[in-house]
Amino acid sequence: MQARVAELEDEIRRLSDEVSTDPLTQIANRRGLQQAFETEQAKNQRAAQGEGATLAVALIDIDNFKKLNDRLGHASGDAALQFLTHRVAQALRPGDTLARYGGEEFVVLLPGTPLDEAQRVLTRVQRTLSAELFMSDEQGQVFVTFSAGVSLYRPGERLEQSLERADEALYEAKHSGKNRTCAA
Ligand code: GH3
Ligand code: MG
Ligand code: MG
Repeated sequence: MQARVAELEDEIRRLSDEVSTDPLTQIANRRGLQQAFETEQAKNQRAAQGEGATLAVALIDIDNFKKLNDRLGHASGDAALQFLTHRVAQALRPGDTLARYGGEEFVVLLPGTPLDEAQRVLTRVQRTLSAELFMSDEQGQVFVTFSAGVSLYRPGERLEQSLERADEALYEAKHSGKNRTCAA
């Protein structure tokens, strides 16, 4: 009986991990993001005004992704999403959260990180990606780049509100040449 209960508990854990994870990229999905956000929000409340109280929120959108799909096909587009996920995850700290927010949009939560530092982290990833060939075909070389907007979480607000400001900064990044990170 005890063994059966333990087995069922394992199964429940596995299933609940599954519904919080994006199958293509193996990072958090929107639901996993909300869970991570609620954890950080609680920590943020406890940390009061201390240095650990900052929580930076970044919104990432791949540049010209439609073109990449059209040129290389959807399967290569999927591979590009995995490639980008790896590169961004490598650059982050263990306490950071990277989530797939939608098709080619990602969100990063950076606890204890001031706005300018979050901007630097993402700019560094952008430089890495700009120097790394994703693949090449008859038409030439293919790079995967992204634009990003970063904002600072304001105590008490919902994640969507931080993301709205990040989205405005992202809009600025897209309209000032792409492959850059702007701060809200
Ligand atoms: P911009 O630089 O302005 O962001 O242009 P864009 O082409 O990236 O933006 P747009 O929103 O026009 O296109 C997004 C594309 O992302 C269209 C859609 O087919 C593709 N996409 C979304 N989800 C997936 C996915 O899971 N796999 C693949 N291969 N493509 C996806
Ligand atoms: Mg988009
Ligand atoms: Mg895009």
